[in-house]
Amino acid sequence: MSPSAPTLQQKLNQLRQRFIEQLPARLQKTTTKWQQSRLSTEAESRLAPELHRFFHSLKGTGRSLGFERIAMLADQGEELLKAAPASADHAFDDQAVNDINSLIPQLFQQLSEEIEYLQSQHGQQTVLASLNSVEFSSVAPQTRSKRQRLIYLCDDEPDQVGQLLHHLRCFGHEVVHFEDTESFFNAVLTRRPDAIIMDVQFPQGNTAGTETLTSLNKLIGERLPSIVLSSYGDFYSRLSAVRAGCNGYFTKPIKPLDLMLAIDELTSPLDEEPLRVLVVDDEPDAATYHSLMLEEAGMIVQQVHHPADALSALDRFSPDLLLIDMYMPVCSGEELATIIRQQSAHIGLPIIYLSSETDSQKQLLAMTAGVEAFITKPVTPDELVSAVRLRAERLHLLRSLMTQDSMTGLYNHSTTTDLIGKTLAQAYREGSQHAMAMLDIDHFKTVNDTYGHLAGDQVIITLARLLKTRLRISDIIGRYGGEEFVVLLKGVTAKRAAELIDELRHDFEQVDFHAGGERFRCTFSAGISSFPSQPSTEALRLSADQALYLAKRQGRNQVVISNESDAKGKAQPKPPSVKKQ
Ligand code: GH3
Ligand code: MG
Ligand code: MG
Repeated sequence: MSPSAPTLQQKLNQLRQRFIEQLPARLQKTTTKWQQSRLSTEAESRLAPELHRFFHSLKGTGRSLGFERIAMLADQGEELLKAAPASADHAFDDQAVNDINSLIPQLFQQLSEEIEYLQSQHGQQTVLASLNSVEFSSVAPQTRSKRQRLIYLCDDEPDQVGQLLHHLRCFGHEVVHFEDTESFFNAVLTRRPDAIIMDVQFPQGNTAGTETLTSLNKLIGERLPSIVLSSYGDFYSRLSAVRAGCNGYFTKPIKPLDLMLAIDELTSPLDEEPLRVLVVDDEPDAATYHSLMLEEAGMIVQQVHHPADALSALDRFSPDLLLIDMYMPVCSGEELATIIRQQSAHIGLPIIYLSSETDSQKQLLAMTAGVEAFITKPVTPDELVSAVRLRAERLHLLRSLMTQDSMTGLYNHSTTTDLIGKTLAQAYREGSQHAMAMLDIDHFKTVNDTYGHLAGDQVIITLARLLKTRLRISDIIGRYGGEEFVVLLKGVTAKRAAELIDELRHDFEQVDFHAGGERFRCTFSAGISSFPSQPSTEALRLSADQALYLAKRQGRNQVVISNESDAKGKAQPKPPSVKKQ
């Protein structure tokens, strides 16, 4: 996270502040309506459902945001109106009207005083600081939305360092290198890395690396994910690394790609696409509050504040789970769930209700629409995140099996075509431009023949990983077949796309592969086409394919822009492909 990005606590404080700022206007509006209505049984009956909703949402959001007294007053209001008839056709009895008439104005007054008090406190920031910080400290450490990891490499062997730096950076990691254990030690205290790679031998001793890790872990009171590099593979050297809390042990010479896999395992796996959750709640503050919790746990969240917008959001956003508020104007959560369930496209979509409704009878009734769970507000971040995870992951996994290539985790052929088609349809409307790149590994058959099929697979997986870590998350990256890849680079010209792909080409040709004690390298060729010069997926593909064919004919290991695209020419051709060293 960049230092300027607001923390969860800051975002929540902003939310609380906004809630308190907007509350007087909301209260005023409701009070005025109340005063204007003739104090008759009939008028009250008409106003009752609206007033009930006001108190109900105030209770839920107030409690979630930690305004306990507001929630308590709202709860009293809700209790008072609980007997509210479902429609204006049925009226309250006289006793109920009398109670409401005398108690509601009192509640309005008490709420108004509490808001005034909170606002006076806000100036001093004390209310903000009081927000359940304990509750939020239990949120799992956030998964970085970016795929990049921060890695500290502490190593004083120049050859090894050069090779490791190249590979780690090539795959998009941010790597900071330290030549001595002291500067490494101080850096960890200032900024924690996601993982550490530590050479054990330094001038001051053969176990200086592990000793540094031991004292560091002791000082900060936790075990940092670490991998050690050593010239010794004997039992006692390994034992000292285990005792220093290391997660991995590599003996020299190091194979950088194996080390990368170990780093992946230590940090969260790259292939893990975040869960997507759609939150439907007419209270924007409540929606934002719950979104923040889920986003903090690494999920992608979209909000809808009007139930009528939910259907189009489902199509657009394709969530893995739907979180619905129970009480909303226009339609209830239950009705919305039924509408969604009646559409075959959304039959498997998990739905969770989120509401301050504590009446178990009503909860049970609401569940008949075929929803997965009912969560009562206020909910702790842990509760919400694990409830959502538990129910969303099954659909998420099923979806990924259908849309992804199992070897690389990239989109499969049909999904790639599908997604590109959708992107172009939108690009037509918006007048945006995109570029397509088709990549094909050079002389791949020779790689298989020379080093074996498994080594070939390793090359495919590595190129997929390179594309995934270096291109933008919004770009569409697919494995089109065998050793062929298609990328839609969004919002760029053919020329810019060629530059980007050429950088990858240059880095890829320096990656070291190992098979049966031999080291070898690989290259790829690429062809680029662009939209709107090529107005359809098929036209883009044909045009990129022709450019790729030209790149192969011109000697491989190069990027060629299709001559029908907006910028003509090719990015520097380079010599050989499969290099044996
Ligand atoms: P060019 O430079 O012209 O692209 O030559 P090439 O050898 O790469 O192209 P060709 O299309 O002749 O060979 C592609 C090879 O890729 C043949 C096929 O066996 C192999 N291949 C396809 N899918 C996989 C895979 O998943 N794993 C491995 N190891 N090999 C694969
Ligand atoms: Mg090939
Ligand atoms: Mg091929």
